[in-house]
Amino acid sequence: MTNNKWVYPFEEGNGEAKQLLGGKGAGLAEMTQAGLPVPPGFTITTEACNSYYASNKQFPEEMWEQVQHGLKEIERKTGRRFGDAQNPLLVSVRSGAALSMPGMMDTVLNLGLNDNTVQGLAAQTGDLRFALDAYRRFASLFGEIVMGVAHAKFERVMDRFKSQTDGGRDTDLLPEHLQEIIAVEKQIIFTEQSGLGIPEDPYEQLRVAVAAVFDSWMGRRAVDYRRVNRIPDNLGTAVNIQAMVFGNMGQTSGTGVAFTRNPATGEKVLFGEYLINAQGEDVVAGTRTPNPIANLKSELPVVYDQFVSITNLLETHYRDMQDVEFTIEQGQLWMLQTRTGKRTGAAAVRIAVDMVAEGVIDKATALQRVSPDQLDQLLHPMVDPLYATAVLATGLPASPGAAQGQVVFDADEAEQMGHDGIKVILVRQETSPDDFHGMVAAQAIVTARGGMTSHAAVVARGMGKSCVCGATKINVDYGQQQFNVDGTVVTKGDWITVDGSTGRIFLGKLPTVQPSLGPDFRQLMTWADEVRRLGVRANADTPHDSQVAREFGAEGVGLCRTEHMFFGEDRLAAMREMILADGAGAREKALEKLLPLQRKDFAGIFEVMTGLPVTIRLLDPPLHEFLPAMDELQNQLAELKMSLQHVRSIHDMDKLLDQIDEKRWLVRQVERLREVNPMLGHRGCRVGLIYPEVTRMQVRAIFEAACQVQAAGKVVRPEIMVPLVSVAEELKNQSELIHEVARQVTGEHGMTIKYEVGTMIELPRAALIADKIAPYADFFSFGTNDLTQTTFGLSRDDSSRFLAYYIEHKVIADDPFQVLDQEGVGQLVRMGTERGRSVKPRLQVGICGEHGGDPRSIQFCEQVGLDYVSCSPYRVPIARLAAAQTALSAGASR
Ligand code: ADP
Ligand code: MG
Ligand code: MG
Repeated sequence: MTNNKWVYPFEEGNGEAKQLLGGKGAGLAEMTQAGLPVPPGFTITTEACNSYYASNKQFPEEMWEQVQHGLKEIERKTGRRFGDAQNPLLVSVRSGAALSMPGMMDTVLNLGLNDNTVQGLAAQTGDLRFALDAYRRFASLFGEIVMGVAHAKFERVMDRFKSQTDGGRDTDLLPEHLQEIIAVEKQIIFTEQSGLGIPEDPYEQLRVAVAAVFDSWMGRRAVDYRRVNRIPDNLGTAVNIQAMVFGNMGQTSGTGVAFTRNPATGEKVLFGEYLINAQGEDVVAGTRTPNPIANLKSELPVVYDQFVSITNLLETHYRDMQDVEFTIEQGQLWMLQTRTGKRTGAAAVRIAVDMVAEGVIDKATALQRVSPDQLDQLLHPMVDPLYATAVLATGLPASPGAAQGQVVFDADEAEQMGHDGIKVILVRQETSPDDFHGMVAAQAIVTARGGMTSHAAVVARGMGKSCVCGATKINVDYGQQQFNVDGTVVTKGDWITVDGSTGRIFLGKLPTVQPSLGPDFRQLMTWADEVRRLGVRANADTPHDSQVAREFGAEGVGLCRTEHMFFGEDRLAAMREMILADGAGAREKALEKLLPLQRKDFAGIFEVMTGLPVTIRLLDPPLHEFLPAMDELQNQLAELKMSLQHVRSIHDMDKLLDQIDEKRWLVRQVERLREVNPMLGHRGCRVGLIYPEVTRMQVRAIFEAACQVQAAGKVVRPEIMVPLVSVAEELKNQSELIHEVARQVTGEHGMTIKYEVGTMIELPRAALIADKIAPYADFFSFGTNDLTQTTFGLSRDDSSRFLAYYIEHKVIADDPFQVLDQEGVGQLVRMGTERGRSVKPRLQVGICGEHGGDPRSIQFCEQVGLDYVSCSPYRVPIARLAAAQTALSAGASR
């Protein structure tokens, strides 16, 4: 193609075309066309970037001519000329992908400066100091971003010169300091690049800068970010070239960032920070502590009023909270960026609900505005107020949630330790995009410098990670790998607790509690319930879990795992006795001890879940899981034998020999029950078939509890679920047994209980013959954990060693134990549902694997037409929202 358009002036670009222009470019075009004050400029498209990569890093044909033409237009509008020694035009070169990636891409400011044009700038503005300040910023930005010289090298130069001034700030540097700084910075670049310096020719500067932006698309930190956020690599980035405006031209100039609402709480107040006499990244870099935006009202009232009306306009226009960048040049306001603002889960909920009340958006939009992940954040723990006493340090509450971990100061080390399963908290003076991988691995992030809009704060909020910023009392000593606060020294590896909701940092591991959820949350959940079709139940094994689940809106228990009830001390003993029993008689005696314990648990759950179904699964795991481990037994036996040598009396000897005999017997029993593949061994309904007394006891406990609770006036709806069925006959056998015991118990109590009997579908064979199984079942519940294991032939407990490699190398896209494998396992779910319903149209079908709480899997469950999903209590709200969202998008595509 010869007539490709690679460049769009802001007046021309389509504000909706984010794919083509990137988010920043689209926003600039939209603002320009809305008549807002935006410095003139143009966007080089993402297609140009993709073409650059496709053709071995060559700019596409004609792109450069179009760029030059674009520059001519800027020259015309500003009355300045690029590279002109008298009246130079300076531009910024800004990257911008379709999805905003905070800090991932780099911007070069003041491009077009060289030893000649800097004189022109000084003459033009009558301010030599300003011109030199712009030049030294350009030199270090170009050196760092385009030429790859470490930022710290320039930082050190700045620090050295700043310390020579009286005030010690960057604004205290005199022209002669700046002149020297520039010379030193150039020298550093020259040395580092073995003889290569910053090009003097502005067009050459522009060319390499654009190429550098394109190159940064494939830089490590951008690639890392995309991996974590599941953004494909082939979108490409756009480049924006824009006339510079200067916030560093004295006391009526400045620069800042703002959110149209509070991004932490959602409160409807302008939230932002600015710095007078500063440029570009100064606010977010944390080099000076910025002022809250409210101060601008008294400092520059006219500008403030104009700014407020612009932000209002933007929010109304985009119908969402915006995150904007602005610069004030000698009292004139310029808008430099607008985008949908990142926010915490709490803010997302509040803003969505508020905007419905304000009439800005409808309920369906509100539901789509909150992501399930954000809701997850809302359910995050906070530090238990009872224990939150001795505060080590306080900073800004940059991103909510409480977290504990061992202190680490280096991002690589954080990543390494995180990889080894160690919980770490990354503590830094401030963070930069180079720390991103360490932030991913950390439980929380703490910085000593920087505000609510600093890199650490923005990135942490995006990840839903707890973060405290600007804890100024913290003195970080990277060399010693420690920090101190008022004399308290905390060394690498020490535990601290971070509360990002309040900005507090504590020494040690403090207990945490779940937050209470406010009216906005309940409102949003009500709307979700209005539109969702899928039912949401919880996996709960105890009355307490059931209570939590019900408070979170669960519509019943979808999976109660009875074996979890056996792990308490007293219960385990009885359980072992049952397993090791010689013959049915002895087994029944042991079971009699378990019966009242189970009955009590069931009664508790029935009470909490009154009026709602409770699906109870009969005993499922291999029996040997309840027995002591073999090597432990062997050790005990060896110890007993050792102590034989020290025995003094015959009596003691006799006792000891008895103990040895007993241990030996236990070893033989455990040996007898040992299985090579327990996951595929004697478990599930296979136990109940061979030891019907086990099923009998459990069913009796269920019905005795049901009668008891129903007699107390509550409504009980037990659903008894038979696990691991692969042959229809197994379910036939067990269901007959269940009905028989049910008749018995209800007869004894003279009551009738409405109940159902069904089965887990968790083996491929069961899905295949679902039409043969369905006649014996009132319901199916897909046990997708085991179904995934058996479909893949993959043991979950052994998979961690290689699954990580598989995911990293894209052999498979996701961990199939977290995200339902729709391609394979999903077929069985679909088939099982269809075949089951082909003989029993009203068969109730649900899912109770881990996947029941995963939004993407929930979407699949909606498509297949399941009746409900069941997930852990804390994921119930997430499932309700995800079910609503999938119902909305299903409705939209219909
Ligand atoms: P990022 O995506 O990292 O925010 P930006 O391109 O938005 O990168 O810019 C970095 C900083 O430089 C921001 O503070 C921005 O407002 C400022 N900036 C960018 N272009 C200009 C310009 N033409 N004039 C003045 N400041 C600018
Ligand atoms: Mg930036
Ligand atoms: Mg920006």
